[in-house]
Amino acid sequence: MATAELTICEPGRKNAEKFMTRHFADLVGDLDGADSPLSSAVFRGGQRHAEKALADLDLSGYTRDRNHAYPRPQRAATGLSPYVRHGMLSLPRLWDEVTGPTDELNRFRVELLWQEYARHWYARLGVHTRQPLRFQRQERRGSLQPIPTSVSIGHGHHDPSPGWNESMGCMEITSGELFDDGWLVGQTRLWMASQWAVREGRDWRAGESLFFTHLLDGSRAANRLGWQMAAGLMSERPYAFSRWQVETRAPGLCASCDLNTDCPIDRWPDRPPTQPVDTPNPLLFSDPDPDRTAGPPEARSKTPSAPSASNGAPDVVWITAESMGNDDPALLAHPELPAVFVFDRPLLAKLQLSAKRLTFMVETLAELATTRPLEVHLGTPAEALDGRRVATTFAPVPGWRRHAAAVEPDVVHPWPWLRRPSDGDISSFAGWYRELWGHALDDRPSEPAARDIPMLQKMG
Ligand SMILES: Cc1cc2nc3c(=O)[nH]c(=O)nc-3n(C[C@H](O)[C@H](O)[C@H](O)COP(=O)(O)OP(=O)(O)OC[C@H]3O[C@@H](n4cnc5c(N)ncnc54)[C@H](O)[C@@H]3O)c2cc1C
Repeated sequence: MATAELTICEPGRKNAEKFMTRHFADLVGDLDGADSPLSSAVFRGGQRHAEKALADLDLSGYTRDRNHAYPRPQRAATGLSPYVRHGMLSLPRLWDEVTGPTDELNRFRVELLWQEYARHWYARLGVHTRQPLRFQRQERRGSLQPIPTSVSIGHGHHDPSPGWNESMGCMEITSGELFDDGWLVGQTRLWMASQWAVREGRDWRAGESLFFTHLLDGSRAANRLGWQMAAGLMSERPYAFSRWQVETRAPGLCASCDLNTDCPIDRWPDRPPTQPVDTPNPLLFSDPDPDRTAGPPEARSKTPSAPSASNGAPDVVWITAESMGNDDPALLAHPELPAVFVFDRPLLAKLQLSAKRLTFMVETLAELATTRPLEVHLGTPAEALDGRRVATTFAPVPGWRRHAAAVEPDVVHPWPWLRRPSDGDISSFAGWYRELWGHALDDRPSEPAARDIPMLQKMG
C-alpha cells in the first residue's frame, strides 16, 4: 500500500484517540470498538507533559522507595521513562538538570546509566539481543513448557493475557497496569518477567514481545536487557520472585489475594538449569566498528563539502520514534525547516502494538505540530522522503540504519549519548562501566550503600 500523508489532529488525548481509531484500526492489536478510552490518562504524550514531569520531579525518598510497588501513592519511581524512550527528555539533560540530595541523585544517575548501557548494548548487538548471549536454558525433563512461536495479546480487562496466573493478586494487579496504563515500576516488571520465565518456564522472548506491545516506554534495548537479566541469561542468576517481595514492596496485597493461604510463590523458585552458550557472541567483548555503533560524533553531511543554501541544503527534518522531542539535535539545528514523521506501516502491521502506544505518539506529534510545520505519513520513510533533502538525528537502533540506508539523509546529527560507546567489553553493566569510566562501580549496589558509588566522586 502506498505511503499516505495524514493530517495530524489538534492536541489533546481525545483528538489523538480519534485519529488513532480512524487511521490505525487495522494496525493495532487491541482496538475492540468499545467506548472505553484507548488508554488511561496516567501518562500523556507531548513535550509539555514531559516538562511537567521533570518540573514536578522530587527525588526525596528515591533510594528507599523507587522499588516500592503498591499502594501507588508511596512510589518514588520517577515515571520519566516514556519521555526518555521517545527522546523528549535526553539522558544528558536529566543528568545535568535533575537536582536532589546527593544520595538520591547518585542513585537516580545510576538508573540513567542503566538506560545508557542498554542503548550501547542494543546499538552494538542489534537483533542479536534476541539470542541468549551468555547462558541458555536447559530443558529439565517435563518441566519446561513448549516455546510458543507467538503470543496472543491481552485486550485490557476484556481478555487477560495467558502468560500469568491472574488468580494471584500480584499478577492480576500488575498485568492490569501493563494492559491499562502501559507502564509498570521496575520492581513489578521483574516480578512478571521472573514469574513468566523462571517459574512458568516460558520463553523470555515471547514475554518480552508482550511487554513491548504494551509498554509506553517499550524499547528493544531496555526491555530485552531486563528480560534476559530476569531470566538469568546474562549472569546465570535469575531474578528469584517470591511472596517475600510482594509482602515487602506491596504491603497488604497478599492479604487481599484469593490465594493468600495457598500461595504458589510462598517459597523461592528453583533456579532454572542453565548452561553457558557454546560460543558467546564476540560482539559482547569488543566492537570492530564503534563508529558505526555510535553514529557520527558531529553533524555529518553526505557531501563532505558543506552544502550551500541553494544547493544540497536540507529542506526537511526527519524525526523518528527514538527522538520526538523539542531537543532533537536535527530539529534544534534547523529551526526553520518543517519536520516529517513516518509511521512505518509494514512494521506496525507486523508488531500489532497496543493502541495506547500509538495514542501516546500521536499526542506528542499533535503538540509538536503547534510549534512548527509537521508532516505525518503512514507508509515507509523511503517513500515519504523520496526526492527531499533530509536532515535527521542518528538513532542507535537497527531500524534507523535500515531506513537511513534507503532515505540517504543529507545531514546526520549525532545521538545525544551520555558517554560515546567505545569498542570495549559490554558483556556486563559493571564491565561496561569500568571500561568507559575507568573505575569500578558495584553491579547493582545495595540500596543503603548508594552513597559509596564511586561514580559521582569522579564524575561530579
Ligand atoms: C523485564 C523488564 C523490562 C523492562 N523494559 C523496559 C523498557 O521497555 N523500556 C525502558 O525504558 N525500561 C525498561 N525496563 C527498565 C526499568 O524497569 C524502567 O526503565 C523503569 O522502571 C522506568 O521507570 P522510571 O522512569 O520510574 O524509572 P526510574 O527508576 O525513575 O529511573 C530513571 C530512568 O532511568 C532509566 N532506567 C531505570 N532503570 C532502568 C533499567 N533497569 N534499565 C534501563 N533503564 C533504566 C529509565 O529511563 C528511567 O526513566 C525494564 C526492566 C525489566 C526488569
